[in-house]
Parts: sequence; C-alpha cells; structure tokens
Amino acid sequence: MRLIALVIEADTWKEIMPINLNLYPDNWKEIALSIKQSANWTCEWCGRPCRPPGISQKQTEQWLRDYHPEWLSHLYKVVEDDEHGTIRITKPQRFTLTTAHLDHNPANCEVDNLKALCSVLY
Ligand SMILES: [Zn+2]
Repeated sequence: MRLIALVIEADTWKEIMPINLNLYPDNWKEIALSIKQSANWTCEWCGRPCRPPGISQKQTEQWLRDYHPEWLSHLYKVVEDDEHGTIRITKPQRFTLTTAHLDHNPANCEVDNLKALCSVLY
C-alpha cells in the first residue's frame, strides 16, 4: 500500500512504475484529491493531521506549530550519532497524506476501496 501511494506522489512516477500506472484511471489525480478532501486532510487510520495543499514540506514545522502543536513531536526522529551525539532529524514526509487502495488494485477506484492514509506506517 505504501509503495503505491508514494508512486502517485512522485513527479517521476511514470519512470518508476510504468506497468502499474496503466491501471490507474485517467482522472486518478482528481479522485485521489477528492478522497483527501473528504478526509479533511487527516489520516483515516491514525487521525494524524497531514499537510493540505499549499503547505510545502519545508513549511511543515511552522504549520504544525500554528495548527497542530500536539503533533509537533512526531515531526522529529531522534538518533544517537557517535560523532555528534544526539541528533534530531526532521521528517516532514510523516505528514504527507496519500490515497491508498485497500485491495492494492489501482484499477479499483470505488470509494469503498480508497482511504486517505498518512505515509508513516502503511
Ligand atoms: Zn496515519
């Protein structure tokens, strides 16, 4: 599910997955957008707020501070580095909403088969 979702988001999707994309309907972008809008840009699985249109990955931190401060800690991954000690890595992609096919079949665009999901776990 995650792979399909990421492919849709990528600019180079045609090069990444030429075969699978033939299965998507021509109006897939509109379908995917309507699913995300219906979900109010919130992950339908975990309730995570995701960046709406107009908020770039770079703006994710400020957007969270302004609108969803309770989710701010989820933006960071803390790692221990031998050389630099504790490092905080920003992960804006955790707040990217994708439209997923529950049956993993891109040709099945029935509303019941589509869910707006964040790209964290799925
Ligand atoms: Zn989620």
